[in-house]
Amino acid sequence: MTEKLIETTRELNREQHIEEVAQIMSIRARGAVPMACVRTYGCQQNVADGEKIKGQLEQMGFSFTEDEEEADLILFNTCAVREHAEDRVFGNVGALKNIKHRNPSLLIAVCGCMMEQEHVAEKMKKSFPFVNLVFGTHVIHKLPELLFRTLTDGRRVFERGDDSEDKTIIEGLPIRRDGSFKAWVTVMYGCNNFCTYCIVPYVRGRERSRKPEAILEEVRSLVSAGYRDITLLGQNVNSYGKELTPAISFAELLRQLDEIEGDFQLRFMTSHPKDATRELIDTIAQSRHISHHVHLPFQSGSNRVLKAMNRSYTREKYLDLVAYAKEKIPDLSLTSDIIVGFPGETYEEFCETVSLIKEVEFTSLYTFIYSPRVGTRAAEMPDPIPYEEKSHWLRELLAVQEEIAEKRCSVMVGTVQSVLAEERSPKTGLLAGRSGGNIMVEFAGGDELIGQFCQVRVTAARIWLLNGELV
Ligand code: SF4
Repeated sequence: MTEKLIETTRELNREQHIEEVAQIMSIRARGAVPMACVRTYGCQQNVADGEKIKGQLEQMGFSFTEDEEEADLILFNTCAVREHAEDRVFGNVGALKNIKHRNPSLLIAVCGCMMEQEHVAEKMKKSFPFVNLVFGTHVIHKLPELLFRTLTDGRRVFERGDDSEDKTIIEGLPIRRDGSFKAWVTVMYGCNNFCTYCIVPYVRGRERSRKPEAILEEVRSLVSAGYRDITLLGQNVNSYGKELTPAISFAELLRQLDEIEGDFQLRFMTSHPKDATRELIDTIAQSRHISHHVHLPFQSGSNRVLKAMNRSYTREKYLDLVAYAKEKIPDLSLTSDIIVGFPGETYEEFCETVSLIKEVEFTSLYTFIYSPRVGTRAAEMPDPIPYEEKSHWLRELLAVQEEIAEKRCSVMVGTVQSVLAEERSPKTGLLAGRSGGNIMVEFAGGDELIGQFCQVRVTAARIWLLNGELV
């Protein structure tokens, strides 16, 4: 019986898998609409993957719920990058055991970066026998087939990408976007950089860029559907297009996207300082739609630490690019990621990071105390500084940044900012949105403004927040 079903699987195409799953799930849900509860953890790339997963589930007839008790399918889309992510996912999956006990026909699936790590997938296999389906980031497009096999093989299904697999980008997957005016557009997948602390190249593979025509088409259709804030995503967007034939630079892609007519703004993340160019800065400076905010993670202000991180740029090169960018784009807002307490980092080297922060004057920072990721080179490096001391360093750094942020916000009082109203603040009841420089602004206004760009005069500044009034 099983063999026959496996053979059937091979013969079915994608549309047939979608139809078959829809029929089986409708029977299992006794004619009602089957419900899926999808929980996505981690970065924007994972959120974008989650939207593709939901798009495919919708094609298979699923509706969505936040209530695990009423779900026919619970799917966890995991992240390997964030600290303690593994423990949290294992804890959350473990907690489903009781629900599965009460509802034996419940399907449980776990996917995402974490499942591309062998030791995690193995643990999932051995310790959580009630999980029906485990798959990695490279096979998201195969979800209809994987669900069909789960429902018909009578066995648990495990599928991860491996080096032999064709990693061609699959275009045209349906996307169920979480927002109605903000959208993520992935422009490239993977990373070639192997920063010594980072797990991404191991779980997302090498760099692969989407064709510019596909990206242009997606952005055009988003703009005509009324999306206002479009963020281009990639682990290192600045190396976009290098492996395409013909090759194209990220700056050129931005120039082409900037020609699209409409009321929208473009953002992008994440940039790598070694690949960010003056051409990119010139393109932003001359553009109509590109936000004057660049997230340019420098990670450490010490050249020795940067080398140990395998970041391939120096403090001097970073500062040189920043000086050029500030000259060309006077209202530029810069943000960065910082790792405090990298293995072997001394207090003096940490002070070089603080001095760089003072010199650049970032709008905001995403700060992390170093924590090891299994399988990375940094995880093997001696790390003598205790966590408590690193926490002390971090507090010192945050105090410096707080002063800078306060100063940067206070000089904006009196200026008029273009703000995309996103929601009503639950605390103050005011409209809240981000300025082009990515600073939160609150102001009074009606609900009809949500999803629109508003001209707002800044009337007061707090550390991370501006208050304003409609012009
Ligand atoms: S550039 Fe470095 S930190 Fe960023 S995803 Fe690649 S390896 Fe990780």
